[in-house]
This record gives sequence, structure tokens and C-alpha cells, in this order.
Amino acid sequence: MATTTREIHLSTRPVGLPGPEHFDTASVDLPDLADGEVLVRNTVLSVDPYMRGRMNDVKSYVPPFQLGAPMDGGAIGVVEESRSDKLAVGDTVLTMAGWREHAVLPAAAARKLDVSQVPASAYLGVLGMPGLTAYVGLKRIAELREGDTVFISGAAGAVGSVAGQVARQLGAGRVIGSAGSPEKVSWLVDELGFDAAFDYHDGPVAKQLKEHGPVDVYFDNVGGEHLEGAVFHMADFGRIALCGAIAGYNADAPEPGPRNLMMLVSKRVTMRGFIVSDHADLTSEFYREAGAWLAAGDLTYRETYFDGLDQMVDAFRGLYSGGNTGKMLVRL
Ligand code: NDP
Repeated sequence: MATTTREIHLSTRPVGLPGPEHFDTASVDLPDLADGEVLVRNTVLSVDPYMRGRMNDVKSYVPPFQLGAPMDGGAIGVVEESRSDKLAVGDTVLTMAGWREHAVLPAAAARKLDVSQVPASAYLGVLGMPGLTAYVGLKRIAELREGDTVFISGAAGAVGSVAGQVARQLGAGRVIGSAGSPEKVSWLVDELGFDAAFDYHDGPVAKQLKEHGPVDVYFDNVGGEHLEGAVFHMADFGRIALCGAIAGYNADAPEPGPRNLMMLVSKRVTMRGFIVSDHADLTSEFYREAGAWLAAGDLTYRETYFDGLDQMVDAFRGLYSGGNTGKMLVRL
């Protein structure tokens, strides 16, 4: 049984894109288990764009990472020791004790996973927080309607790739995606069933989207030029779900917003931001629907893996250079 482990700490707060110099790997002794606690050996760790915001010392919907303390995030692990009757040795669990190799935590902070139908890693992506985000954004925030033309940016990422397929299942008429490479564009159209997709490096979004509009629903993962481009092509009474704005996460200062917001007035467009954790009431509905779509082959997914705790920072940085197709994960 492990008695020591390694965990990653934030050592200084980054400005711009974080690098290895902003993190430390610490070796620590694991405490003895108290009643009700379990020892979990992590097997798959998640890196997510929102973690960048937690590296800044600012008030937000999740508290910032503390300097010199272990970072956290989604993690899959296996119970190695248990002093709880809720979890047994060998159970596969989902926790928030990421960025480390082992964790001692209350059994109540670990969710036992059913891994009989899908690999455990799916609970960090297609069947996890990113998948639910796609579902919430389309169903509740954008109020997707039968026949809608839907545009999704960041479409080959964890949230976007699910959003495109879910949009189809919810009755979208046409699904358009943008992504950062020809390979990603082909994956969207050839395998995920997008009607069309483009590489945003090939020209301004406003220009490339023109032939696909008007857009009833824009699911925005990117912000910046993508948002401005989409606003140009929104249909009257269209809906924009503001999910994220990754294009600006490493900027030193906020970028100026879209210059064409007056078009939201003339087109009577609704634009609404959301945070997935406010919509936990949709979780069981999402599991039911997504489970059925997965089983039927109507929802497929990819994962991109880095290997070992020492590659955690590289994996995280890869989110900002398009290094992932589907969900970005680190395998221990
Ligand atoms: P992804 O798996 O999509 O990974 C990030 C991807 O973003 C990269 O692969 C890259 O793909 C793309 N990207 C990076 N920089 C840029 C840029 N400058 N311009 C355009 N695209 C860029 O991450 P997630 O699916 O986990 O998250 C997607 C978005 O959803 C993020 O904005 C995230 O913050 C947000 N989010 C919001 C939640 C909420 O509750 N509101 C919950 C979860 C996520 P490419 O090769 O295409 O450039």
C-alpha cells in the first residue's frame, strides 16, 4: 500500500500561458485513514480550460488555487484501502482530487462509477462535466428547437464534440462546427455527423460562416473573433449560449468585446452565459439520454492522452494550442 505520493502545486501565479516554472511537484506522506475515509490511487486525471481561471487570484464561481497547496480537478481512481462501508477496495471512483497520484479523502467525496458499459475515463468527458455542459447549453440555455441551424465553436474539443452530436439528437436541422485543423474538421464531418465544418485558421470566422447562416443557435466555446463572427450571421430571434471564451484565457487583459453587439438588438437575439454546476438537476436526465445515445452509436467520442503526472502541465498547456481531439486526459 502506498505511504507516500506525488502531487502538483501551483508555485507562482502565471501571467499569460502557464509554463513549468509556475508549478512544483511535491512528494508527501499519505496520512493514516480515519473512519469513513478511503485511499484512492488515481488512474486518469482531467485537465480543463477553467483551471486557468483558478490560477489567478480573483473572485469567481470557483475559488482560486492556493499557492503551495495541491491543485484539484476531476480524477478517476481505484480504492486501495477503505475504512468506509460505502466503498470497497477495488471500486472505481470519480473525485475532485486530481493533479496527484493518490488521495486520502472521505468516502462521501468519491462517487462510485458503473464501469460495466463504458470505460471509467468517459466520466471525465462524454458522460461527465463536459458532456453535461453541452447538454445544458443546448437544451436549457439555447432552448434548441426542431430544425434549428446550430453553430458550435471549439467543436472538436470535449464539450464541442458532444454538443454537435447532442444538437443532432435534439432535432437540429443543420450543425456547423469550427475547429483548429483540417484533421479535426474531417473528424467532425466524417465521423460525428456535422453537416459542415471549417478551420478558423483559413480565414475570418465571419467570412467562413457566411455560407452556412443564418444561425439560430450559437454555442460559444471560444469568444473573441468567433463570437463577433457568429453575431453577424445570427437569425432573427436566435439564441447564443455563452459557454466559454478560451481565446482570451491567457490574455494579460480582457480583449474588447464584439464590435457588432447592436446586431443583437436589431435581430432580437438572446445571449446568455451559464455555469454547468448551476444545472445539476439535469444530470440524471442527461445520463439517461446520453447513455442511450452511446449504446445506439449515436454519440461517439475521442480522448487524447498524455502519460504520467510529469506530463500534467504539458497536457494542460496543450488545451491552448489545440493539442487535443475530444477530451484531454492524463493517464497515470
Ligand atoms: P476543449 O476540449 O475544447 O479544449 C480546448 C480547445 O480549445 C483546444 O483543443 C483548441 O482546439 C481550442 N482553442 C484553444 N485556443 C483557442 C483559440 N485561441 N481560438 C479557438 N480555439 C481555441 O475544452 P473543453 O471542451 O473542456 O472546454 C471548451 C470550452 O467550454 C472552454 O471555453 C471552457 O472554458 C468551457 N466550459 C464551460 C463550462 C461552463 O460551465 N460554462 C464547463 C466546461 C467547459 P482547436 O484546435 O479547435 O483550436
